[in-house]
Amino acid sequence: MNSSYSKLQKNLEYLKLKQMLAHLNETIDFMTNNQLSFTDALVKLTDYEIDMKEINMMRSMVKMGAFPHFKEVKDFDFDFQPSINKQQILDFTTLRFIESQENIVFLGPSGVGKTHLATSIGIAAAKKRTSTYFIKCNDLIMNLKKAKLENRFETRLKHYSKYKLLLIDEIGYLPIDSEDAKLFFQLIDMRYEKKSTILTTNANFKDWGDIFQDTKIANAILDRVLHYATVVNIIGESYRLKDHFAKEK
Ligand code: ADP
Ligand code: MG
Repeated sequence: MNSSYSKLQKNLEYLKLKQMLAHLNETIDFMTNNQLSFTDALVKLTDYEIDMKEINMMRSMVKMGAFPHFKEVKDFDFDFQPSINKQQILDFTTLRFIESQENIVFLGPSGVGKTHLATSIGIAAAKKRTSTYFIKCNDLIMNLKKAKLENRFETRLKHYSKYKLLLIDEIGYLPIDSEDAKLFFQLIDMRYEKKSTILTTNANFKDWGDIFQDTKIANAILDRVLHYATVVNIIGESYRLKDHFAKEK
């Protein structure tokens, strides 16, 4: 065996350039057969390493997003939910709305796909290495409340404010007392005009006063959320129940 070849193998191994090592033979063959220059061959070889690095980076961004599942837009049956404009959802996945710090609100009854669609946009963002985080409204409020008790509210607030895209799921399923509503307001206010937020809710905006048990705070939250926002109002049947209904028919 050619000794400089085995030295190169060892070097790549030592430098942990696994992809370059794995594609070494094929690249040398390709270089020889196509009379590639040294530079071109090296570009080809380093690209293997870079491609893998990008895939890993994408995976870790998606992991950091804490999504409830990995459902994407391609897994969504738009025929089942005709009130949804598919082109609008596809446009969201281009992340144009994040560039203009806009929000999205998915509004509709249980099971119509709010969490699925929000998650799929979140995954699209994470894949493009946009810092993204998914959290249920109730967990978010519990965390803010706990931080407040432990005198680290500001730090927590800053933490949630830094994400370029924050997904807050299930507003309105559980009531929020007016003290907690103020904590939530501060987060919304901090992100206002700076960062994009996707919210999902089963509650019409006129009922947010009841959810937050304070009409003033609820209006202040809504004001900021809706100022630059697209509301996707989903009117339709629950996907969870579709098989039950089918059986009944
Ligand atoms: P919601 O958040 O509106 O209550 P989900 O997004 O959690 O509803 O949807 C409930 C379940 O049904 C999930 O598993 C979701 O992936 C699935 N689902 C909902 N709508 C569709 C659809 N149109 N096509 C495919 N799966 C769907
Ligand atoms: Mg949901």
